[in-house]
Amino acid sequence: MKLNMLKYTEIKKYLENKDCLLIPIGTCEQHGLHLPLCTDTIVAEKMCDEISERYGILVAPTVNYGVNLPLDNKIMTGTTGITYEILKDTLKSITMYWKNHGFKHFFAVSCHGDIFHIKAINDADSDIDVIETYEVEQKDLLEKQECTRHACESETSVMLYLYPELVDMNVAKDFDIPITTFMPYLEHKNDKPIEGYIGNVGYSTFATKEKGKVIYERMIKNLEDVVKMYINS
Ligand SMILES: [Zn+2]
Repeated sequence: MKLNMLKYTEIKKYLENKDCLLIPIGTCEQHGLHLPLCTDTIVAEKMCDEISERYGILVAPTVNYGVNLPLDNKIMTGTTGITYEILKDTLKSITMYWKNHGFKHFFAVSCHGDIFHIKAINDADSDIDVIETYEVEQKDLLEKQECTRHACESETSVMLYLYPELVDMNVAKDFDIPITTFMPYLEHKNDKPIEGYIGNVGYSTFATKEKGKVIYERMIKNLEDVVKMYINS
């Protein structure tokens, strides 16, 4: 149930019983040799649609740009984004106007874990719950990683489960880098090209749709728990 597919009178009716809204937060960001730039966007949208169907909560139009690694914005063709300030102000603005009409709470669903991206959503408004979708237990499932990295064993598995037609495993490659070397990049303090960098960080070739199914189910359960906690409060 999409908010912008309704007439304003229908949204008024919705607000007689409910006061929350799901907001998918996407990115336009490279995902290695084997996944499309819309990866974060379409997984977040899928999750929102699923929860919308189960709980009758409206889904807002997707925020299609996020805060990326400076390195990716610089050298990875097609990757683009917005700054911390712009993402924060965008969310602050759109939720402020929705609050005029009776919306009280927002679930911002993000498959992108950049620290400034998440901070922007968090700082936008105290009535926004940020759901970092991949922050679920995965150690027991993954062979080569402890958690989600980027376009990696975990994220590729979820894509193989949800959108296999968009994954090209023939060109997938693994790439690892010590966390201490990569940290300045994650902290947006370094954007110098890294030797051998092809976009993903992690073991994409170890991805399977079976792992993806279990990871995705945990992601949905986590989002569902946050939504239920609000609805029942
Ligand atoms: Zn991603």
